[in-house]
Amino acid sequence: FFISFEGGEGAGKSTQIRLLAEALSAEGHEVVTTREPGGSPGAEAVRHVLLSGAAEPLGPTMEAVLFAAARSDHVEQVIRPALDRGAVVLCDRFFDSSRVYQGVTGGLDSDFMAALERVTVNGVVPDVTIILDIDPQEGLRRAVARRGDESADRFEKETVDMHRRRREAFLDIARREPGRCVVVDASLPPEEIAGQVLEIVRRAMDS
Ligand code: C5P
Repeated sequence: FFISFEGGEGAGKSTQIRLLAEALSAEGHEVVTTREPGGSPGAEAVRHVLLSGAAEPLGPTMEAVLFAAARSDHVEQVIRPALDRGAVVLCDRFFDSSRVYQGVTGGLDSDFMAALERVTVNGVVPDVTIILDIDPQEGLRRAVARRGDESADRFEKETVDMHRRRREAFLDIARREPGRCVVVDASLPPEEIAGQVLEIVRRAMDS
């Protein structure tokens, strides 16, 4: 059973993945938690290229292809083998992040992105995608608080509009794919969110 978590900065994805992993493990499931970009040795190497700034500037096409290369390796090395042996896989970001970050706010052609997605995941699609929805201003405030970054104001001003567009794009995906995606209010207390997430996952696993 494959569950992906999506959402903007500071939505609390890692906390919720940890809490869900604990709950499912306690019920006797084998749980594999992983993340994108990364999750396999090759994909973690690509993550470094993508996020360290070491290879700036990356053009949007190169960025999209690198995310896709990392995802393909991650799927074949980690996710598919885990699903084949019956584990529950919890993934921090998956193809919806590419649709949103590279497709919508990266401005890449949607046919190109769809083709890239198809060959990259090669049939491995989340059974459930939890979209943790948060007001970007609040999400950025949390993310900055976590990082201890003192340039909070500048960071927020530069990116808040971009984050708003991303939030809308995630909500749009949820509207288009209601069978796979569930939107959860990420401004609630973490334990409350975890309860909702567990209920959503139990229902989906039972159906
Ligand atoms: O928030 P998280 O720790 O998942 O951060 C990973 C970063 O990678 C995000 O800040 C996001 O900007 C970026 N990313 C991206 N495209 C993806 C996945 C992640 O730009 N497909």
